[in-house]
Amino acid sequence: VPETPDAVLDGLDPEQREVALALHGPVCVLAGAGTGKTRAITHRIAYGVRAGILQPATILAVTFTNRAAGEMRGRLRQLGATGVQARTFHSAALRQLQYFWPKAVGGELPRLLERKVQLVAEAAARCELRLDRNELRDVTSEIEWAKVTQTVPADYPAAVAKTQRDAPRDPAVLAQIYSTYEQLKRDRSVIDFEDVLLLTVGILQDRQDIADHVRGQYQHFVVDEYQDVSPLQQRLLDLWVGDRDNLCVVGDASQTIYSFTGATPDHLLNFRTRHPGATVVKLVRDYRSTPQVVHLANGLLSQARGKAADHRLELVSQRDKGPEPVYAEYPDEPHEAEATARRIRDLIAAGVPAGEIAVLYRVNSQSEVYEQALADAGVPYQLRGAERFFERAEVREAGTALRGAARAGRNDSLLDGAEGLPSQVRAVLSTKGWTTRPPAGSGAVRDRWESLAALVRLAEDFEAAKPGATLTDLVRELDERAAAQHAPTVQGVTLASLHSAKGLEWDAVFLVGLTEGMMPIAYAKTDEQVEEERRLLYVGVTRARLHLSLSWSLARSPGGRASRRPTRFLNGLRPGSTALGARGGAGGGGGIDRGTGRAPAAAAERTEAVEPRTRQTARCRVCRRPLTDAGEMKLMRCEECPSDMDEALYGRLLDW
Ligand code: ATP
Ligand code: MG
Repeated sequence: VPETPDAVLDGLDPEQREVALALHGPVCVLAGAGTGKTRAITHRIAYGVRAGILQPATILAVTFTNRAAGEMRGRLRQLGATGVQARTFHSAALRQLQYFWPKAVGGELPRLLERKVQLVAEAAARCELRLDRNELRDVTSEIEWAKVTQTVPADYPAAVAKTQRDAPRDPAVLAQIYSTYEQLKRDRSVIDFEDVLLLTVGILQDRQDIADHVRGQYQHFVVDEYQDVSPLQQRLLDLWVGDRDNLCVVGDASQTIYSFTGATPDHLLNFRTRHPGATVVKLVRDYRSTPQVVHLANGLLSQARGKAADHRLELVSQRDKGPEPVYAEYPDEPHEAEATARRIRDLIAAGVPAGEIAVLYRVNSQSEVYEQALADAGVPYQLRGAERFFERAEVREAGTALRGAARAGRNDSLLDGAEGLPSQVRAVLSTKGWTTRPPAGSGAVRDRWESLAALVRLAEDFEAAKPGATLTDLVRELDERAAAQHAPTVQGVTLASLHSAKGLEWDAVFLVGLTEGMMPIAYAKTDEQVEEERRLLYVGVTRARLHLSLSWSLARSPGGRASRRPTRFLNGLRPGSTALGARGGAGGGGGIDRGTGRAPAAAAERTEAVEPRTRQTARCRVCRRPLTDAGEMKLMRCEECPSDMDEALYGRLLDW
């Protein structure tokens, strides 16, 4: 903990310091990836609190994910500032809604709707329309868009005309389904994810007393990742802030990757117009990545088009030179995964901690081969976006068993012969069917095993930190961690989707599956959608501090047709490739790691669209169930699973 408030400012550059010292009035930080935006706002809050200028309980810091909120709270604690509310929009809104619901509406807050698509289908049926799965999904997404843009059913047709949206149905018909869906929800007393924000907005708008109460509590607002704020979130923010101007926002238009949920960088880009007196700070020094990584990131940005691209900020690396990014082409996915696992093992052997390595992919269903390959290579890993550790059924069950064993103590025959603490834990877990070797394959059984393995690692770490600790001590530690909702620091390689990697960083990043069809994803059709995919790749590249690998495979499975092409976004940037749109060319060349030594397909540079993946094995990107239906495959999501938008929101709500 820094000794004095001023010491909190150490380790900030002059521009970051300007942000930290601008404690009143509107502040806007526009800056590229890795320039220390999150660090600047965290230190700003800590400085304000430590200097006694800001009361911690009056600060609301809004982050994009629960993980980011947790990290911010951790950093604040290290800087000697506690008691600050760091939350996502949804978790902050849900909390307020639960608190004020009885007073504003009466009774309990309705429960959250789980099967939205089903309810939309019912609404369509009431309008005497039978929609196939595909249409249903499109209609559901359209209703979500309408809600986050605060468009009520009656205004929807006009909104479509105004925004020139490509509506999936006749706007009048869609408005009717939308309105029926809303009615059905009211009848059944359920609310959907958008309602969490909408209802909070509604209550704050209608009830001056409640708005005053909330504004009395929160007086200073900080928003990270502001480029991805939706119109509805912006409205909520406006209501929270009221006519005060103590708002600090930070963002990077080039990292807008949630437009599909209605997010827009306009609020960030127009901040100065809305707040004429705003302090605007630009940061260009990149503290995260080596010049090699930054060079590629700048290259990607230089090819970007559209509004966000007009505001791109060239990054300047502050780090020493590092290794060149590795571009690797493989004959098929299993080869790509095996080689990636091998290279990860080599990095770990060379001293890079497993927890400092990430494998990032476009859709969650791509994780499977990597899970398998890492398991085969004996490399520990963890999946992001999974259920909160201590809430998982197997972890709770294991906790109960450990508590029981701790009470029985050393008289328990189960613990006979088990000396150190971790072997006692293993002995107890073995009664739950846990084996020391991971089960083959992936899926639920494997996930369960990973959780219990993490628990054993936790016991190992605990014993290392506290030699001589007993099972009772460990159980107490587990209870404390569960109460604090801290997952154990699993020192595993992170497997995550590009979307969920936002804001995070690792020493080594492997961007895998970079083929046309995956990057950009096959369903990105319009120029704007393709640009968003490019930004997603930019987000991926800029997660790397030192080692960066970009790989793709020409066929899905061994012996399959080598019909895939590397992503167009690397054309002109990776060695041997020609510029965007060019045909023919060298077809790969110097600097590309062929992985298995096999010759690449001669036509690697052709630019026609390709099939995203072999149909028979496509899996739902949320639950990973194999998909059978063409409609499901279009979106790579099964009917039961939440839509893109819900997925994003679930991620933010799950561990609320
Ligand atoms: P992103 O756009 O990806 O969210 P960001 O702009 O929020 O990135 P941070 O995550 O705050 O960037 O910082 C990137 C890395 O650089 C972190 O490891 C951070 O600790 C480090 N860093 C930031 N500013 C400085 C500084 N002035 N001196 C040293 N390291 C810094
Ligand atoms: Mg950040």
